[in-house]
Formats: sequence, structure tokens, C-alpha cells
Amino acid sequence: MMYDPNNVFARILRGEIPCKKVAEDEHTLAFHDINPQAPVHVLVIPKGAYLSWDDFSARATDAEQAALTRMVGRVAREAGLAETGYRVLANTGRDGHQDVPHLHLHVLGGRPLGPMLQRPRD
Ligand code: 5GP
Repeated sequence: MMYDPNNVFARILRGEIPCKKVAEDEHTLAFHDINPQAPVHVLVIPKGAYLSWDDFSARATDAEQAALTRMVGRVAREAGLAETGYRVLANTGRDGHQDVPHLHLHVLGGRPLGPMLQRPRD
């Protein structure tokens, strides 16, 4: 998988596509997923062009990495999930079923989320 500068999240960052913004700082944007899988389903993305967690952790500055980490916690707290619990996940690459080739963390909560992984069908 390669970074595509015309991916949907890059277009949101450029203001070409609208989003329902939750929070923003110098390095990071958080917005509601267009197709929520739980009562709270927020996507947290870096503003830089990073494909995946392994790419981001290797190339992003310490400030970018700190900002992304802090934004995930802020979103969880401000959505009221710190008490009840939540899940943070980053689908990555083919096996991880990543659809959008720009690093994004899903923050999910607001109901019991069930087991972490579905068993693959044989
Ligand atoms: P992935 O499968 O790559 O982990 O997740 C991509 C997520 O992006 C999906 O949950 C999908 O609903 C969301 N998504 C795709 N296009 C848009 C969009 O244009 N706006 C927003 N807010 N979310 C989107």
C-alpha cells in the first residue's frame, strides 16, 4: 500500500471535503466517522502524510507523535468514555483491512464493544 495524496482524509485536511470536527491542534485532527460503528466513533489523524503506524512512528517528529497520542486521550475524555471504557484501533494494510491510506485511529465507545476480533470464516 502506498500513500495516495488524494485519499479522502488528505482531502478533508485540505478542506476539499467537509467533516464533523471534534477537535484539532497544530498536528492532529479528530472528526466523526461518516459511518459510525458505535455511539461514539471518532477518527484521529495526523495532519502529515503518513500511511500507517509503522510509517508514522519511524518518520514523524516527537511533537507530531505526542500530539496524536494526546488527542486520542482528549477525545476519549471529552466524549465521556474514560469511565465506561473504549477501544482505539488502527486498521493497517491488507490484512488489517485498511481502506483509507492515511494513518487514522478509530476511537470507539458508548456501548459494550464485544470481543476484539471476529474469528475468520474457514
Ligand atoms: P479503515 O477501514 O481504513 O480503518 O477505516 C476508514 C474509515 O473511514 C471508515 O470507518 C469509514 O467509515 C471512514 N470514512 C470513509 N470516508 C469518509 C469520509 O469521507 N468522511 C468521514 N468522516 N469518514 C470517512
